[in-house]
Amino acid sequence: MSDFGENVEDIEALQSNSVISTTFQETVDDQENIFRPKFLKDFQGQPQLKENLAIFIKAARERNDALDHTFLIGPPGLGKTTLASIIANEMGSEIKLTSAPALEKPKDLAGILTNVTEGSIFFIDEIHRLKPALEEMLYIAMEDFEIDWVIGQGPAARTMRIPIPHFTLVGATTKAGQVSSPLHSRFGITCHLEFYNVEELSNIIRRSSKLIECDISEEAITILAKCSRGTPRIANRLLRRLRDFATVLGDGTIDQIIVQDGLTRLAIDPNGLEKQDRNILSTIINFYGGGPVGASTLCISVGEAIESLEDFYEPYLIQQGYLIRTPRGRCVTSKAYKLLGLAVPENVNEYYTTIT
Ligand code: ADP
Repeated sequence: MSDFGENVEDIEALQSNSVISTTFQETVDDQENIFRPKFLKDFQGQPQLKENLAIFIKAARERNDALDHTFLIGPPGLGKTTLASIIANEMGSEIKLTSAPALEKPKDLAGILTNVTEGSIFFIDEIHRLKPALEEMLYIAMEDFEIDWVIGQGPAARTMRIPIPHFTLVGATTKAGQVSSPLHSRFGITCHLEFYNVEELSNIIRRSSKLIECDISEEAITILAKCSRGTPRIANRLLRRLRDFATVLGDGTIDQIIVQDGLTRLAIDPNGLEKQDRNILSTIINFYGGGPVGASTLCISVGEAIESLEDFYEPYLIQQGYLIRTPRGRCVTSKAYKLLGLAVPENVNEYYTTIT
């Protein structure tokens, strides 16, 4: 801390720049917050990930160390933000939460880094969108627990290394491929989140319905779980919408009839596919002969942003075997023709049909 003394004002100015550094509780959607498990024992599914994480957390706690920097990879709504808060709770430390697009300038990041406390969790969502200058600052912070900061201006300017407490960076991304390898390699723990199965989603819906004190039948839970696209956020969102239908159109209980009626009203089919999913598949078939078609062309045709296509629609369509990505573009499979009630053409490539 020796360099600190003469530049106390600079450091204080930096620390007060933590406008975007907020606590977890302040930033997240309140409705999602109700459902968010606080400890690993309540986090459903992802058994191997949970087991490993529990061991790493226990080991860090026993050594009285900060947890190694942790990288969470997976489609939206699978629990990355939730896991970050669970890590903080399990470590008994505080969490600061931000997202890469909110960090505009190096001083935004420096403001947070100079405010972190020993062993605390710093969560950056969408870390693949971090600007290169900020990424470089993060490398030093992650590795050496210091930041480089330029003090003064003009000929008097000089770089100063500011020590920062040992913190844990938890970075989350839906696009691991877009994260530079120097950044990727600085994470000691990497967790890939997978889509959830029907049983795991049923457990999530059962738990969430208790939290919002809503009666729901077991049959209704199973139907809801099946059309939640393997995603807890969608399961919870559907539960809230169906509670609305049950309140207004029924006696407050979500039963099989309310679920089936509600899903029809929301244009969601029994596999969880929405109108836009079917639109994407039928556009590839009707306009591009089943594919291949490039993502940007497809987005224009269906009026969707590329991020929504790549982050929301595609992963589930691919996972369910309706769509495949090839180097030349997106192609539908025979399963997509069958879903839309169309005859499967003979020329659907063998390669495509083998995965359906
Ligand atoms: P992400 O950050 O990956 O987009 P979130 O962590 O915000 O996803 O999770 C979205 C919602 O799903 C939250 O309300 C959370 O409570 C719920 N959720 C996610 N994963 C689980 C899980 N494994 N068990 C229970 N609820 C979960």
